[in-house]
Amino acid sequence: MIYFDNAATTLPDKDILEEYNINSLKLFANSSSNHKLGLFSNIKLEEARKDILKTLNLKDHNLIFTSGATESINLALKGTAKKYQNRGKHIISVIDEHLAVKNALEALKNDGFEITYLNINNKGVISLEELKKSIRKDTILVSIMHINNELGSINDIKEISKLLKDYPKIIFHVDATQSIGKTSFNYNDVDLISFSGHKIHGLKNSGALIYKKKISFVPLNDGGGHEFNYRSGTVDVAKAISLASAIKKSYLDLDKNLNHVKELNNYLREKLNNRDDIIINSDINASPYIFNFSLKNKKASVVVEALSNLDVFVSSLSACSSKKNPYSYVVLALTNDINLASNTIRISFSKDNTKEEIDVFIKEFDNIMRNIHENR
Ligand code: PLP
Repeated sequence: MIYFDNAATTLPDKDILEEYNINSLKLFANSSSNHKLGLFSNIKLEEARKDILKTLNLKDHNLIFTSGATESINLALKGTAKKYQNRGKHIISVIDEHLAVKNALEALKNDGFEITYLNINNKGVISLEELKKSIRKDTILVSIMHINNELGSINDIKEISKLLKDYPKIIFHVDATQSIGKTSFNYNDVDLISFSGHKIHGLKNSGALIYKKKISFVPLNDGGGHEFNYRSGTVDVAKAISLASAIKKSYLDLDKNLNHVKELNNYLREKLNNRDDIIINSDINASPYIFNFSLKNKKASVVVEALSNLDVFVSSLSACSSKKNPYSYVVLALTNDINLASNTIRISFSKDNTKEEIDVFIKEFDNIMRNIHENR
């Protein structure tokens, strides 16, 4: 099998799974219990928390463990919007954000919040000018993804943070789900950072919300007050440790993995360049982990299914929107072309992919393209 859908999720590393199993038995006690076993779980939980902040080199932040980016994002956006709504009810985000962000913000409209969505340019990134122009007196929150999950385009978080420093009352949230463990970027100037473990060979339903110690937010759930009152519910200590391990591993091997994936990406781009039946959507400066293109005259869904029947797994739309929307709102925002947006293919790499797999993909892709009918 050839698995090129690593932006949707990755295969968990065996050692992380094994460690999780061992710790699930060893650290089963409730980390809030006052007996020796509970206290031991709690020590290990706090170690995992510190480990992650240390790996990410964040000194002004704290962290809570969540079930993943979707929960972190909801908590970050709804929690801070509600906490700081007396300052204003205007929020800025971007048209190509993941549905976890967009739908959390859309839900806030029911509470009277107003959302401005910035556009993306032909490289798939926002313009600082447009961001600056969109800021109002009542803007309380800006949410901008670091790396887009469909295109791999990379927003300049450093410059955005610099710009937002002139507006100290605005809280800055970054969806770092596709960037944690894949770039060496330091998030010290960002107020809130959301991500999942399963995109970096960790476990499903593991993730965290990192927040500047000076800010606070309203929890989504009421309960026993775990995780500093922000996320009630018994903590899966073994999973928290698995997240710390996945993060540590990904940063230890960051350069090696990045160089490997860059090579794969360049190789694929060379193979697909100058074809007149496709358009490459991912900019040359995008994250090498993600490569997106559109078919000009054939149905991407047919090609993806034919590849899948050969055990070659790519995606036509991001996993979260493919069942509901027949087109990619991200590629539509980039190209303004509904045909291209309806026929996108995303190849997303991991450290484990090889050039030989790309050769097989190209061979099968060519075959399929030759043998299927035109779209229109
Ligand atoms: N944000 C981005 C950019 C993503 O790529 C994803 C998952 O695809 C999410 C948020 C949601 O992550 P999860 O499904 O782990 O909650």
